[in-house]
Amino acid sequence: MIEVTLLGTGSPIPDPQRAGPSTLVRAGGQILLVDCGRGVLQRAAAVGVMANALTALLVTHLHSDHIADLGDVLITRWVSTFRPDPAPLPIIGPPGTAATVEATLAAFGADIGYRIAHHADLTQPPAVAVYEHTEGTVWDHNGVRVLVAPTDHRPVSPTIAFRVQHDGVSVVLAGDTVPCNSLDRLTAGADALVHTVIRKDLLNAVPLQRMRDICDYHSSVEEAASTAARARVATLVLTHCVPPIAPGQEEAWRACAAAHFDGRIELGPDLHRIEVQRTT
Ligand SMILES: [Zn+2]
Ligand SMILES: [Zn+2]
Repeated sequence: MIEVTLLGTGSPIPDPQRAGPSTLVRAGGQILLVDCGRGVLQRAAAVGVMANALTALLVTHLHSDHIADLGDVLITRWVSTFRPDPAPLPIIGPPGTAATVEATLAAFGADIGYRIAHHADLTQPPAVAVYEHTEGTVWDHNGVRVLVAPTDHRPVSPTIAFRVQHDGVSVVLAGDTVPCNSLDRLTAGADALVHTVIRKDLLNAVPLQRMRDICDYHSSVEEAASTAARARVATLVLTHCVPPIAPGQEEAWRACAAAHFDGRIELGPDLHRIEVQRTT
């Protein structure tokens, strides 16, 4: 079984009910955090996961809403890990991730200096191990394997999707992307697909070109559902819904997906949890 928890289902616009994009994947005792949007550690705390318990951080791309709380994850993990010589936090993302992590640590340089000066047992800055990939197997430890493939979120590039595999169960986390062959190949035969989605019908009616621009490089609910159908997954999980799902509109969103995909459709509030079992 792989457990998926939608920590944050929101978008770049602050929302009192929804944290920024972030998904927790638990498999084989490992805790993988996929993206780290606004409020991620508060939501993780709500399901009993602290920063010091994360096995690895997976980053789909470097858009601000997906990495807004990267600094919080790095610093909070550092100050709340009490083992001497803690292992570095593995961070897997597309090229550009290492520079972003380095710049984030530099931005918190004053804080890091204060804490090293104050606590005798904190002698080193936060330890990280950054791996930049766009393709292939990027993680293979204790029965949990993670594969990545490029996605298409241009002009944001490179961007990647993740496939987490454990004990015969596979979950794909697509991130932000339009439909593309490499995502199809990564998703083929998986049990669940977690996909960020927008409602192009609603956004195209907004009299702000900057809002309509969003349609260029995201999948609509219908497109994500078609990707799920082509891959023959059993479960489609919608997240990062733009515009935010208005109260009472959940079924309308679900219907957009159901027109193109006849499997299980999950779209929840923050902290919605999905157990993914082996389908075949
Ligand atoms: Zn994005
Ligand atoms: Zn996004």
